Amino acid sequence: MAARKKAQDGPADILSYFPGTPRAVQEFALRQGEDALSKVDVLVIELPTGSGKTRTGYTFQRYLHKELGLKSAYIVPTNILMDQVQADFPKMHSLRNMQSYDCSLYEEQTQKLNCFEARACSKDKKFCKGCPYMGAVRKSHVVPYAAYTYHTYLAHRLYRDVLVIDEAHLTLPLLRSMAGKRLWYHQYQFPSWVNSYGKLLRWVEKHPKLKTDSKLQMLLKELTSGKTRYLVQRGTDLYHGREEECLKLLPIDIRDNPPILWPGGKVKKIILMSATINRKDVEQLGLDKRRVRFISAPSPIPKEQRPIFFTPVGNASFKHQEETLPLLASFIRAKLQERPEKGIIHAPYSMAEKLRDLLTGEPRLLFHNQENKSEVYQAFRNSSVEGGSVLVASGLYEGISLDYDAGRWQVIAKVPYANLAEPAIAWQAETDPESYAWEAIKLMAQASGRICRTPTDWGHTFITDSAFERLRTDYQELLPSWFAEAIVEEDER
Ligand code: SF4
Repeated sequence: MAARKKAQDGPADILSYFPGTPRAVQEFALRQGEDALSKVDVLVIELPTGSGKTRTGYTFQRYLHKELGLKSAYIVPTNILMDQVQADFPKMHSLRNMQSYDCSLYEEQTQKLNCFEARACSKDKKFCKGCPYMGAVRKSHVVPYAAYTYHTYLAHRLYRDVLVIDEAHLTLPLLRSMAGKRLWYHQYQFPSWVNSYGKLLRWVEKHPKLKTDSKLQMLLKELTSGKTRYLVQRGTDLYHGREEECLKLLPIDIRDNPPILWPGGKVKKIILMSATINRKDVEQLGLDKRRVRFISAPSPIPKEQRPIFFTPVGNASFKHQEETLPLLASFIRAKLQERPEKGIIHAPYSMAEKLRDLLTGEPRLLFHNQENKSEVYQAFRNSSVEGGSVLVASGLYEGISLDYDAGRWQVIAKVPYANLAEPAIAWQAETDPESYAWEAIKLMAQASGRICRTPTDWGHTFITDSAFERLRTDYQELLPSWFAEAIVEEDER
């Protein structure tokens, strides 16, 4: 750790606030960030996989507090990431949801309850003296820096001078979800085939109660007005604290929505950190009119340890799948022969289903559907290295971590363009093709980071969809540099 300068010499070196010894990539991001902090409102830091974002963010927070007198909030999108933050910095204050705190009265009760389960006591809005959850809430309002999930941050309005956002590429979907509408299954029993805008519209138009149900009438008006373009997704969400099935209507364009994460006058500066973040995210978050600085940090993992081989077997778009899928199946069979290690094949559900038929008799392959996804993924994670299981995965481009022997190779079988059959996506592709392309690039770059997690790890990625050629040529500037540098050209093999 560098020695801290005395106060009269001006701010101390930001690296002196780093816990331990920073990696070169962390030093780069912190030095660049230190320089930019006083000049900009939004600092966007592209930090590739393995950079150690949590430590970088924590160092910014300590520096901001001690040297600039600024309070800060560090927010993460998931409880899993919150676990990591707490494991790394057990002394830093954090606030989680009520379920994470044991009710302090449990010794007087017949069973151990968490604060959420025991919250009946708070009907009159009075929590017990010594309630661990309320203690953590109160502390959150006074500490100079702390870590929260997006939800606890918003629920308690823990706005601070500076907001540091980890995995900031997930901020846009989160804000879309918050601005979205919900149609609850327990209220409307929509059939299972309603899973897109067109099908929802058809179902609402023919609903027998449309003439008398004002909510359905409003929904129809909203769907047909064309003012807000919605993505329609099936899923679950909390309804009065209970997880319930619903249809989510997510507005694709939220640029002009109220800035709920950084309300005016309450949050002065924003630091966005992610392996996949660029000017398109800043535009879509409605932050592009502010003073913005972009910092692109180099990957701490040598590109030779994470090569991305572009090995096109054919165009994987729906139109060309009949001729491409048998070629893809042969490619996968050949790879299974060559590679005894565990691996993963990224393919959307419809494609995975067809591959299952073409690849019968390959015992190493594990397929899943929407219902058994997490069970099959767990079985894959728990399987032995010697068994060399290969997961055919749909929608697992991010959020999983296949360190070391947990995953040594992967195939990205299709450029994950969003479905143009959805009117909101078609509108985006037409009015803002860069954003449409960026969403696909982002997923591919995220996927490439799944199997090589640290500077001592390695893993090989194969892109087999020939459509990638056009994407990388037309939108070269959008490719994260750490991703582009790992692509191995034909003549380099
Ligand atoms: S307010 Fe009291 S009963 Fe409710 S969770 Fe807290 S300690 Fe338990």
